[in-house]
Amino acid sequence: MDDASGRRGLESAMPPMMSDSSPHPAATPLPIARPLIGEEEARAVARVLKTGWVTQGPEVEAFEREFAVYVGAPHACAVSSCTAALHLALVALEVGAGDEVITVSHSFIATANAVRYVHAVPVFVDVDPVNGNILPDQIAAAITPRTRAILAVHQLGMPCDLPAILAIADSRGVPVIEDAACALGSEIRMGPDAPWERIGRPRGRIACFSFHPRKILTTGDGGMLTTADAEIHRRLRLLRQHGMSVSDRVRHAATTVEDESYEFLGFNYRMTDIQAAIGRVQLSRLPALVQERRARADEFRRLLSPINGLGLPGEPRWARSNWQTWFVRLPDGADQKRFRQAMLDRGIATRRGVMCAHREPAYAEAEWRTISGKASAALRNGESIQDCGVALPLFPGMSDVDQSRIADAVRECLVIAGGEG
Ligand SMILES: *Cc1c(COP(=O)(O)O)cnc(C)c1O
Repeated sequence: MDDASGRRGLESAMPPMMSDSSPHPAATPLPIARPLIGEEEARAVARVLKTGWVTQGPEVEAFEREFAVYVGAPHACAVSSCTAALHLALVALEVGAGDEVITVSHSFIATANAVRYVHAVPVFVDVDPVNGNILPDQIAAAITPRTRAILAVHQLGMPCDLPAILAIADSRGVPVIEDAACALGSEIRMGPDAPWERIGRPRGRIACFSFHPRKILTTGDGGMLTTADAEIHRRLRLLRQHGMSVSDRVRHAATTVEDESYEFLGFNYRMTDIQAAIGRVQLSRLPALVQERRARADEFRRLLSPINGLGLPGEPRWARSNWQTWFVRLPDGADQKRFRQAMLDRGIATRRGVMCAHREPAYAEAEWRTISGKASAALRNGESIQDCGVALPLFPGMSDVDQSRIADAVRECLVIAGGEG
């Protein structure tokens, strides 16, 4: 879960190397994740190819409309990835050089990178030691006159504490961007008596989603921004297409000669109609996918909670995760790498806990800070999850037998890794 390369899915689907003397006979390898793509997606792609219009066009528009309805957002804007979405969100809010953006280091690196794309300074705050979500109290402590945005992640699909974050942000007049890359289908209650609503409505100024194959819904690669602000939405649509005043599609259909102009610096962050056609089919599968993942998460909790010392993810009363990832925390003293190797020897792929950007070489020379300088000690909860967290396989179509096998393996491998088991 720390590497967004498209290779990941294939790698984890390959059988593990096993010697003849292995005490564990080869069982079907269990990948960490596997997208559910069927005949319907293939037919949708073929349909688009036959129309002769393959880049951003009518399918993208339809996907945006359907996505907006699903999450309950007034506006949705499709782009080429969530990384592109995060970049555009910051550009649309006019965050630039010298500005500060409060966010987490403990996230896929694209979160922090987006802040650097606009030459702003990431101000990293720590996360909850159990679910890895941004700590609202630390946001309050990190706000300065230079703070121009708060970039809050719904980590691995678990909603972060939006009501608390928005209370702080609103009182200080700072906009919130939601990195909802993993959180499509997750739900939140904005108050004790408030109804459940989907992440992406959005409650912050802009929410950003990913359609990478490791997420719940995939278009190969792709992303979406949702907002309730019509002016921001207009700007996002221009920014994703070079800042072009008249789109290629409008010019293509025009009966009078139309010339475009370029009002400001834009990008090519378009989604293609081929991707959108896949996304529309995937969206129709989403409710069933989320329901299945929630049932598997309940089963993991039942199977794994008797294991001594193993930390399980917690779901606050006001949040319902889509369980994009199910991860456990190994007990003190257990060797994460030995544990994962022992799991792999049993044909079970795992990933370490979510990474911390500040520990990567790409951040060694970069400008960033915490509430106490460029000090990683201020980020110890995130570091600890990276070091003791282990993501377990969770994919559509996995069986009760698969899950029992995983639970048995966790117990055995904890003993090997020096945890209690
Ligand atoms: C996957 C992910 C991203 C990047 O999404 P892409 O669509 O691959 O660009 C950003 N933030 C978080 C939290 C993610 O998990």
